[in-house]
Amino acid sequence: MNKKLSILGAGESGAGAALLGKKHGYTVFVSDYGMIKKEYKKILDEIEIEWEEGKHDHERILESDLVVKSPGIPDTAPLVSELNKAGIPVISEIEFGGLYTQATKICITGSNGKTTTSMLIYHILKKAGLRVALAGNVGDSFARQVAEEDYEYYVIELSSFQLDGMFRFKADLALLLNITPDHLDRYEYKFQNYVDSKFRILQNMTETDHFIYYADDEVIIAELNKRDLIPQSYPYGYTGPYTKGAWINEDRLNLNIHPKDLNMSIFDLSLQGKHNAQNSMAAGIAARVLDIRKETIRESLLDFKGVEHRLEPVIKVHGIEFINDSKATNVNSTWYALETMKDEVVWIAGGIDKGNDYTTLLPLVKDKVKAIVCLGKDNTKLHDAFDDAVDTVVDADNIDDAVRAAYYLSTKGYQVLLSPACASFDLFDNYEDRGRQFKGAVRNL
Ligand code: ADP
Repeated sequence: MNKKLSILGAGESGAGAALLGKKHGYTVFVSDYGMIKKEYKKILDEIEIEWEEGKHDHERILESDLVVKSPGIPDTAPLVSELNKAGIPVISEIEFGGLYTQATKICITGSNGKTTTSMLIYHILKKAGLRVALAGNVGDSFARQVAEEDYEYYVIELSSFQLDGMFRFKADLALLLNITPDHLDRYEYKFQNYVDSKFRILQNMTETDHFIYYADDEVIIAELNKRDLIPQSYPYGYTGPYTKGAWINEDRLNLNIHPKDLNMSIFDLSLQGKHNAQNSMAAGIAARVLDIRKETIRESLLDFKGVEHRLEPVIKVHGIEFINDSKATNVNSTWYALETMKDEVVWIAGGIDKGNDYTTLLPLVKDKVKAIVCLGKDNTKLHDAFDDAVDTVVDADNIDDAVRAAYYLSTKGYQVLLSPACASFDLFDNYEDRGRQFKGAVRNL
């Protein structure tokens, strides 16, 4: 009998799942409560898949054998509750893709650093000449690539929302970068629920699989202490040495998976900053576990170009350096950005606050930040947190004013850092839009 697959949400992952479902003989129906982008309508029409937009046809969707749900749709959505009640499996696009490929899957999760680390691993594997693709939140969806290509390796960035819709999927290599509070609104404001979600990356792994984790993260360690860890494991951090793992000691990165592995100065790494050194260690271990030559790893760690909107240097204007870290949408990532700065910073922050607690930033702010430009519709929380710590705290409600204010508050040798610690939707379409507008405004100075 012909099986019915419904797909909720027709973005990149939904369209990819539709292609893959069609290829494997499902009768596919795509339903999006919002409006579907033209490019995806075109794909669906080309392969004759029925779709609807602006509504969900509950009756029809409840007749499905399987439902693939976009990670953006919460489990509390009425339709999802109905599906759960009816016992119809609701899975993520990654779970669905995983059913149809035998490729080696390298999966990266964590609160921060996923994209950077995924792209770095992809860079190393490509340089090593492997047939590898990047999937998850970057580029083409996993399901689409599984449908259309025949890769040997997938580097997959996984958010907690994607992990929530994964059950039988198994990573061959799993990387857990860090866990700090984020997205708690989707986890009943219970941090443990979010931690459990991140740890789903370990599910189904066997003794021949590999788990790479940041060993200086107290949350990760506390959780590991509660569990039996089945795969082979590789810690990394600042508290090594480890028999098998990576650590930084006296400004040198040590990688020790096989005897006489890598040892290099952290100042040579193309990605600078403490957080990025962690990402480099994580990526280095993954590559070594896959038996990539250490020379290739070394070269890749030296020549990786970095990722747009993540501590991205823009230009210098009259000796003032502008840095775009628009992707920093939570306090932890901004902490690392400030930590990486030299000592005279004008910091542009603000946007939509997701329940931020700014106290962890205070020591760094007192130490390095000479002025703050608050860029948001409502800047009250930033003022409450920092007015007593920094002499100059000004407001701006558009990017041009913010950049100009930051420029006038700086002198030669200063760094102007856009690292908002907040979401962007009050004034921008998304963080990419915010970062691009920032770069545009800086170039117009
Ligand atoms: P993600 O994909 O998890 O959101 P990104 O690689 O896009 O992570 O980086 C997001 C932000 O987090 C950047 O602003 C960056 O400065 C910061 N960051 C990157 N790696 C780490 C890390 N290992 N720990 C903490 N913050 C990090």
